[in-house]
Amino acid sequence: MRKPVIAILLDALEPAWLDRWIAQGQLPTLAKLRADSARFLLHGVRPFTGELPQVVMLTSTLPEKLKYWGAFNYDALACEPRYVRAYDYGAIRNFYDYSPGLKVCQFDLPKAGFARVAEGLQVLNWGAHGSLNDSSSNPPELFDELVRVYGLHPGLEKDHVEPWQYRRLNDLMGELVAGVRLRTRVHRDLLARANWDLFLTSYSEFHSGGHCYLHFEDPSYPLYERKVASEPILAIAREIDASIADLLLAAPTNAAISVFSVHGMVKNSWEINSMYILPEFLHRLAFPQRIRQPNGPPPPPSVGKWWWADTVWDLTFGNTRPKPNMGEGINWLPGAWYASDWPRMAAFAIPSLDEGMIRLNIRGRDPQGRVQPDDYDRVLGEIGAAIDTLKDARTGKRLIARLFRTRSDPLDDGPHVPPADLIVEWTQDPCDVADSRLVGRIGPVPLRRTGGHSPNGFAWFKDERLPPGDQPKAATPYDLGPTLLDLIGADIPDHFDGCSVLSERRKHTERTIFREFDPNL
Ligand SMILES: [Zn+2]
Repeated sequence: MRKPVIAILLDALEPAWLDRWIAQGQLPTLAKLRADSARFLLHGVRPFTGELPQVVMLTSTLPEKLKYWGAFNYDALACEPRYVRAYDYGAIRNFYDYSPGLKVCQFDLPKAGFARVAEGLQVLNWGAHGSLNDSSSNPPELFDELVRVYGLHPGLEKDHVEPWQYRRLNDLMGELVAGVRLRTRVHRDLLARANWDLFLTSYSEFHSGGHCYLHFEDPSYPLYERKVASEPILAIAREIDASIADLLLAAPTNAAISVFSVHGMVKNSWEINSMYILPEFLHRLAFPQRIRQPNGPPPPPSVGKWWWADTVWDLTFGNTRPKPNMGEGINWLPGAWYASDWPRMAAFAIPSLDEGMIRLNIRGRDPQGRVQPDDYDRVLGEIGAAIDTLKDARTGKRLIARLFRTRSDPLDDGPHVPPADLIVEWTQDPCDVADSRLVGRIGPVPLRRTGGHSPNGFAWFKDERLPPGDQPKAATPYDLGPTLLDLIGADIPDHFDGCSVLSERRKHTERTIFREFDPNL
């Protein structure tokens, strides 16, 4: 006998915000759900904090088995960056896609894919933030039908807004609220179409709003400004609370309910480090003629006045080399600007939005390799120690929090390992200008979107088999799929790397994919 389950992803909602708003009495529906639910802290995926949590949640599988490391990769033969977009759900499918006859509705999950075994429907990229999918559906005609009846989410693909775009920030707020209201109507429609075993949906507006509005929310952010009367992300939260109330009213009375997020949102302190400071640092190491020494104290932090990538290009290269078309492919990512020089560098940075990703140029592995495999450990240590000279030019604080190495054998390469040999986890303070005794001063560059990802998530399950309240043992994104299947009463595939929270045999509470690396040992 199967039990219906309603599962709601509150994408990239920082759990501490939710706790604060509930304590303030702002969110009555979520407050009631919280009180009735078994509540787990969720330790997200680290490294790959921003890129992988949704995919490992949807597959309950480790990235080395998925052979997927996020949207940005590296073509070793061509020695150039590769934009791979979403996981293809080919060899390993959605967690719910192994039970023939399971009736599943999946609406607007980011970085998701179509099912092949489960009955039902999936809708991709209707309004999700950073979905990496084309707007499409299974069955194919459903997407057009939804657009015809309800329209597209008004914020779709328009939610990458910079802090200097005041009018767009204001307009986006209205689009996100309108998008939540449209979701409410779509939910009602889709929920009524079948007796679903699993109704899996997502609200993307915390994700969009968190990236864009954090400087209105967090007084510790360098650009904090209390320019608006109400807190924008809280306004979105209230709308979502009302939308969830509507959904639960229409849900079967015996349904188990889950609300969760697989990563969170904090000050954006990693993007500029990974996107610009690290690639520029490694380029200067290889081409010391580009070293620039500090010239007095840096000017105050700014948001610039034009597109970030254009401004950063002008500050970096000016007219010294042809400027790429920033609208083409991933040219807007500064890491890609250095690719033509990668064959002449011992180490270079692969484009990334979260942790820094460093590839060594290894002879016998990379076509124009410069580092002998026997020198791998030594060079890894040298590069790690060199990066550790980077300090925030304003505060003198170190930029590196931790380093991870991804393999012991440098010739071990392929989709089961990430393209980076060394991964850099940064500290949590936003930095626009860095000094290093090795390469001089990098920046200042304008600060950009102000929210960035944390590995903090949460999962609530309202079901009579689980006691309400905070649970002592944390869970992971890998545990979501098996738990939802367990609540439904469906079989849990053996290959999963997570475990149902109803099971006594939970495998792990936190999974660090790679071992930490201390360049000084
Ligand atoms: Zn994001």
